Amino acid sequence: MKGKKIIPIFVPHQGCPHDCIFCNQKKITGISTDMTGDRAREIINDCLATIKADVDVEIAFFGGSFTAIDKDKQVELLSVAKDYKDKGLVKDIRMSTRPDCIDIEELELIRAYGATIIELGVQSMDEVVLLESLRGHTSRVVYESARLIKDYGFRLGLQQMIGLPGDSEEKCIKTAKAFTDIGPDFVRIYPTLIIKETGLEISYKDGAYRPFSLEECVDIVKKLMLIYHINNIGVIRVGLQATDDIQLGIDVVDGPYHPAFREIVKSRMIRDYIDSLIDGDFKELVVYSDNKNISAIVGNKRSNRIYINEKYKAKFKTGIKKGLVDGIIVEIDSKLVSEISFDYMYRVLGKIYKLY
Ligand code: SF4
Repeated sequence: MKGKKIIPIFVPHQGCPHDCIFCNQKKITGISTDMTGDRAREIINDCLATIKADVDVEIAFFGGSFTAIDKDKQVELLSVAKDYKDKGLVKDIRMSTRPDCIDIEELELIRAYGATIIELGVQSMDEVVLLESLRGHTSRVVYESARLIKDYGFRLGLQQMIGLPGDSEEKCIKTAKAFTDIGPDFVRIYPTLIIKETGLEISYKDGAYRPFSLEECVDIVKKLMLIYHINNIGVIRVGLQATDDIQLGIDVVDGPYHPAFREIVKSRMIRDYIDSLIDGDFKELVVYSDNKNISAIVGNKRSNRIYINEKYKAKFKTGIKKGLVDGIIVEIDSKLVSEISFDYMYRVLGKIYKLY
């Protein structure tokens, strides 16, 4: 399969008339200066110089609400991106925005400049969560804008945050199911972190807001991942990208931050599946897989190994099996108990988690 390279261009907080409780775009993007067409061109040229031939290149306008910024600024930035697309150096142009900043006029403008992918920062489909997070729109707007985006032939991405004020596991699952009804091409999942200089920080310090713990988040996100997987919707990112600032104690005041969050979620799913296979005492459990999955099987800080050692008073070993791709083989006391692809394992886990 052809590789993909994304050229990120951050357009921080420009034109956004809102002040969502969790948002400090300058902290999240790590950039606080305005973006200009000249600067965008420099970024694209620098990135293109490092990109190998035969990859699909995508220019992605991240950060604020792109379709809400001044039209002249949109045209300034999009003209640069279109230039590279017209020369065949770039395949896709993507931007992120709010659901209530989409209308026909806007879609026609960005389509004329070659945009192909729109990501909506939806965060939740629960009205109370949207209200308490000061999002300034309802879930109805999400359905309407998503329909319009798809009707105009754009690929659609949806972003979900979990653990916002008023949120719960049930509401996160409800949001994921609403997302699958909408049918996006991909989603991103972000556990809510308390970033400095946000409304959430004030609420947290007042004691009015409590973030989800890392454990709670892992438990919820593993279910969301399965809902999306079962519905063939790719989850292209889980958790904020670590930057120099986005770390606990720097710009993250508190919250379920972990640089390897996605791998922890996968490890937990593997552990849950293995747990479901165990029936009675045993001495040794061995899990085989391909090289790239061994660390997820062992778990972050050997958590799965420690879990099996302590819960079952048994040994936990791993091994690499040639020819086994994206799946595991489980042996208990040298007896084969399961040989399963991750795809099928996720479907089994969906039943274990009672998701359907
Ligand atoms: S709409 Fe987006 S950019 Fe604006 S405050 Fe909310 S999260 Fe931040």
